[in-house]
Amino acid sequence: MEQKLRQEAKALLEQNKVDWIIGFEPGSLKFTTTPLITKDKDDTDRLVINPFIVNNLANFLTEIKGRVGIVAKGCDSRSIVSLIQDNKVVREDVVILAVPCPGMIDLAKVERLVGKDRDELDDITREGDKVVIKVDGEKKEFSTTQVLFDHCLACELPTPQEYDILLGEPRPPAPELVASGEDIARLKGISPAERWESWENELSRCIRCYACRNVCPACFCQRCFVEETEPQWVMPVPRWQDNLIFQIVRNIHVAGRCTDCGECERVCPVNIPLRSLTREMYDLVDELFHFKAGMDKEALPLMTHYEQEEAEDFFR
Ligand code: SF4
Ligand code: SF4
Ligand code: SF4
Repeated sequence: MEQKLRQEAKALLEQNKVDWIIGFEPGSLKFTTTPLITKDKDDTDRLVINPFIVNNLANFLTEIKGRVGIVAKGCDSRSIVSLIQDNKVVREDVVILAVPCPGMIDLAKVERLVGKDRDELDDITREGDKVVIKVDGEKKEFSTTQVLFDHCLACELPTPQEYDILLGEPRPPAPELVASGEDIARLKGISPAERWESWENELSRCIRCYACRNVCPACFCQRCFVEETEPQWVMPVPRWQDNLIFQIVRNIHVAGRCTDCGECERVCPVNIPLRSLTREMYDLVDELFHFKAGMDKEALPLMTHYEQEEAEDFFR
């Protein structure tokens, strides 16, 4: 897949079919990648595909001007479709290089399982349904259900439906797996008072770095409500009550746009379980409106259309 990607990306630039390529190159730290955004055809030799290409690159499409060739896993492709439906991206300006995705490895889970820091690991390789970790000269084997990100364990679209160039054999969706929703199930199993206390504790740790917002393709407002001063919806200092308002409003803003890509939770520097909120909203949107963002490119965007038959007067 990697070789095919490099060839296709180079050809797109050489034939002047795109102005930019957005993909992944090796990161400076072990077991990481970093987004590569380039106009230079020689840079395409640095493109990689591996179990650590975690970023949802669709996030860059609203920032870059011109025609773009973009590497997309299934969840990223759903974000691209959603951005097209919201008129934020023009389909003709994008060449989607589709990666059939086997799921991304969550290094925090690996660290917990082997009891070592990621810097101390010698190698991590994917072998079918197993992940093999070399540490202190020994090989340890784990099942993918133990080490993939929770959102990957619940992935509904590993292979993009919307693409221009498919880089490998399509992969089936994940079976329903309990592991993907353990945090959410735990929160649902406790009383409202305990749940409130749990979120108070979690959100008290938020430092309002806005990484969760900045990494999210569905958070595309030019001016976020948290930066408004008239009226000032939330205090700029990170009080837990304001942090809660930030997350509630953000979740409402991304309802019908969130594709459960898991990026907001992954980047949170203080490990707040944000997916417990975003996935719950994703499931509510599905239950109430039978809508899953980016799954059907012909569907009307959930939050930007209304029908004459709406039950509420204010819609009409
Ligand atoms: S959610 Fe699906 S497409 Fe996205 S990284 Fe995980 S397995 Fe891949
Ligand atoms: S990424 Fe985490 S710490 Fe930063 S604003 Fe979001 S919830 Fe708060
Ligand atoms: S809210 Fe989180 S999971 Fe949903 S699209 Fe944004 S970054 Fe991805």
